[in-house]
Amino acid sequence: MENMMQKAANLYQRPTDDELRELELEIGDPHHQQGLFMDIPEGADVVRIVNIYRYPLYPEEKAYCAKCRAYRHRDGFTAELDNGALVPLGSKCGSDLYGESWKNVAQRFHGELERKHLVLEFDRLGPRVRQTYSQLSSWSYGVEALEALLWDFRRYLPDLYEMLCKAARRPDRALVLEERVRDQAAELRYLERRGEPPRSPIYQSVEKPFATWAGAEAFIKYSHATFYGRAITALNDVVVASEDTQRYYSKVLRELKAGIVDAVERLTKIAASHQAIQQFFGAENRKRVVEWANRALGRKRYACTRDGIKDLETGQMIDLPDNLPDLDLYALSSLRYLSDPQERKKKQNAPF
Ligand SMILES: [Zn+2]
Repeated sequence: MENMMQKAANLYQRPTDDELRELELEIGDPHHQQGLFMDIPEGADVVRIVNIYRYPLYPEEKAYCAKCRAYRHRDGFTAELDNGALVPLGSKCGSDLYGESWKNVAQRFHGELERKHLVLEFDRLGPRVRQTYSQLSSWSYGVEALEALLWDFRRYLPDLYEMLCKAARRPDRALVLEERVRDQAAELRYLERRGEPPRSPIYQSVEKPFATWAGAEAFIKYSHATFYGRAITALNDVVVASEDTQRYYSKVLRELKAGIVDAVERLTKIAASHQAIQQFFGAENRKRVVEWANRALGRKRYACTRDGIKDLETGQMIDLPDNLPDLDLYALSSLRYLSDPQERKKKQNAPF
């Protein structure tokens, strides 16, 4: 009976996030821990792994192992037994000694270690993301103005807008003209099949590259406001979670963290679009676009104005407002740094 109570007192309890923050799960020298025993009492089972070590004096000196009863390891564990004793065990010795129950404690310890890294990652990210978040809130003016400008473009010059969207969707994003040319191969096939030439020539339409242009990114259709809203929400979620990690499953924390990468991607697209629309309105670029559109339509429908483009048939025009608010690109690059996969990889490299 007494023995059972003793055992019950040493049942495994999952540490809270705050406890994990304090726990030293990875140590160097395992020899000087309180409650450390050099031998394993007969019949004692393992309750949990307290920490893993990598002995820094190896190979000149080696770490002691209660199973081997000798100094022979570089890597290993401190294990807690069901009688309350702590014992050092070499990396393979715990599993040799305890088999299945070692598998369980190792799995639980692995979970603790992973959770600890995740919690510390959120401790690190929380304040930084909060700062970036407040810098990025100034983007709302730029995003709104960009959205309004593209909205006006679509409203006042709808045909040109659609032509440019189509060009922007091409893999090469080039401005091309379509030309009708005789399809001699098709005519030959007709002749072979029917034994006589077609009564009228067969034509096909062939693309001819006309020019490259600046600004295609702005004509890839998506809602900048929605993208911005999602990015900002994702960052806010990270900040909120970092204030009380205990409320979140590890899986959710990982998803929230991945949300930073998505936010960077969305904000990067917005920034590209914001820059692209300004380049689009450059004098040379506008001239090229207008010339292309007129040739594609086969009539002089568009003309460049001092700052914009005019539809000569409807009298509507669009130009770049001179007060388009800037986006704080510094905030974006600090966020990009925070989400950098290389840095995140370093953090996640648990020694298991
Ligand atoms: Zn050993």
